Amino acid sequence: MTPPYSDAETTRRAVVDACLWMGARGLNQGTSGNVSVRAGTAMLITPSAIPYDAMDPEMVARVPLAGGAAEGPCKPSSEWHFHRALYRARPGIHAVVHAHPAHATALSMLRAPIPACHYMVAAFGGHDVPVAGYALFGSESLSSHVVAALQDRQGCLMANHGATTTGETLERALWRMEELEVLARGFILARQAGTPHLLSREEIDATLAKFEDYGPRRDR
Ligand code: 13P
Ligand code: ZN
Repeated sequence: MTPPYSDAETTRRAVVDACLWMGARGLNQGTSGNVSVRAGTAMLITPSAIPYDAMDPEMVARVPLAGGAAEGPCKPSSEWHFHRALYRARPGIHAVVHAHPAHATALSMLRAPIPACHYMVAAFGGHDVPVAGYALFGSESLSSHVVAALQDRQGCLMANHGATTTGETLERALWRMEELEVLARGFILARQAGTPHLLSREEIDATLAKFEDYGPRRDR
């Protein structure tokens, strides 16, 4: 699906499918994590505390971006603050994915950015993958930390919590979450085996430039 998204059954289905996909990939389990997409002047966000395999499209909540009450039969995700704040701060973002994958979450407990240990660090928009500061889940403070960490990035760890990725499309946000977990796993393994060599600023700059036209279409 390509943006702009609308509040249609297919969009809601895609949000639920994204959650099931993450569960099948081992990126999330139970009720951990949440997914949203920008749909016009609102966002569609997963309901709070509903296991993904029990989630129906009509349970996905609609939250106006300008402010105001959430609509739908279920409470929106407890993390609606940072999802909404990201859409407000970053017009080019059409999807936000939050998860607690094991390796990214393990690194989040160290409260240190993932350095340039692999060229895929550039897939998150910079020279490292930053860590958002710790705050209570669902709080406005956590929202401020996540927005600050993602001001010039498409992915971050969240201290003692997990990770969040963003995307120009829902598929891109999901792609980044899976790549972030693989990156975290590789970094942990490399540190166990020795001292990882880090790429230079120039090498990451070159990768950032290369990602500008990375894609399957010939016209890109
Ligand atoms: P929700 O079920 O409210 O989305 O919360 C899950 C979570 O990961 C909170 O950080
Ligand atoms: Zn969480």
